[in-house]
Amino acid sequence: MALPPEVCIRGAGIVGRALALLLARERVRVALVTPAASPAHEDVRAYALNAASRGLLESLRAWPDAAHATAVHEMRVHGDEGGRVQFSAAQQKVEALAWIVDVPALERQLADAVRFQPQIEVVTAPVDAPLTVVCEGKASATREALGVRYDVTRYPQHAIAARLEASEPHGGVAHQWFNDQGEVLALLPLGMGPDNTVAAEGGARAVALVWSVDQFRAPDLLALDADAFNAAVSEASHGALGALRLISERASWPLQRAMADRWTGRFADGRAWALAGDAAHTVHPLAGQGLNLGLADAMALARVIKERDYWRGVGDARLLRRYERMRRAEVLSMSLATDGLQQLFTHRTDPLPALRNWGMRGFDRSASIKHWIARQAMGLR
Ligand SMILES: Cc1cc2nc3c(=O)[nH]c(=O)nc-3n(C[C@H](O)[C@H](O)[C@H](O)COP(=O)(O)OP(=O)(O)OC[C@H]3O[C@@H](n4cnc5c(N)ncnc54)[C@H](O)[C@@H]3O)c2cc1C
Repeated sequence: MALPPEVCIRGAGIVGRALALLLARERVRVALVTPAASPAHEDVRAYALNAASRGLLESLRAWPDAAHATAVHEMRVHGDEGGRVQFSAAQQKVEALAWIVDVPALERQLADAVRFQPQIEVVTAPVDAPLTVVCEGKASATREALGVRYDVTRYPQHAIAARLEASEPHGGVAHQWFNDQGEVLALLPLGMGPDNTVAAEGGARAVALVWSVDQFRAPDLLALDADAFNAAVSEASHGALGALRLISERASWPLQRAMADRWTGRFADGRAWALAGDAAHTVHPLAGQGLNLGLADAMALARVIKERDYWRGVGDARLLRRYERMRRAEVLSMSLATDGLQQLFTHRTDPLPALRNWGMRGFDRSASIKHWIARQAMGLR
């Protein structure tokens, strides 16, 4: 890059790379800081991405192929005492409620797109630029060095993720079970067969597991041998997909909800900074919204930069305040909604269990509220 960068992005996770590509498309010169060493293990997770995220990634030519992005046609949420809420793409008149996207495949697509974009220079250490965007994830060192408060509420839970094969085809249905201790088990449909190609139509049996369990139970579940783990997860899913069998390693993450008290500001030398993605906020994964929110941050920031008056620089304080205002309220409402849902299932004293399951059944019959909630989750506001 002959001219100096206008924006330095610290962190080349999915949010950092997507933002780099969005800005480069607007002819903004970007330096993207990536750590020298890449992670030792491939991520076993698959993310539920909404229509807004899909639109963004497609426009960046970074949407994975059909084997690695599976449409969810129906979602069934099960309460602890028979309550059930069901969403379907047909009812909502959309192509899919979400897509379950293989994380390594998405990361590869983004890395390839970055490689072919001449406006982006990949660097191994931060460089001076009028605007620095911090996309370093929840443990961001730059955010800490800036003295930004990151208010963290830790859930007494860890999420276990793995890939499983079911004895019954999943039929494009995502399932989620809440138990009376606030634990949540999700089985998300995957389209790929064991050889990583698209599985036969209607017969796909691979699912992504996200199991948010008590923090003291997680190590025990991780230590179980494969047969015992298979039995535990098959039982917790009430046999909905028949017998389940591990086809990957297991990995786990401690869970938290967090929000930075400031999203934008100035370094001591007057240059501007902004936070995006998990560096600015984290939410419980039960609604599969963390990355969707981070990608929406990237879109909002790229948009205020693109639409700025020609005489304003990329680090203009007014632009950055607009970005913060646009995003903070949406992130807060999603964070409170997922937290509320998680809390609802942590109370075991009567009459709460009966009430929440009764509430679920009532909610399931209310087409207009369901439609509104589904549209929020799909990013179709
Ligand atoms: C179990 C689980 C399931 C989830 N499921 C979903 C889901 O279904 N849907 C969804 O939308 N979200 C989901 N999420 C949330 C999602 O994982 C995060 O929101 C998303 O990964 C955030 O992306 P990011 O790019 O902001 O941060 P990260 O993915 O953490 O990336 C940050 C990057 O910055 C790099 N970095 C860190 N420090 C530095 C530094 N000092 N210099 C340079 N680089 C640095 C890191 O190496 C990393 O590459 C889930 C989370 C968990 C824990």
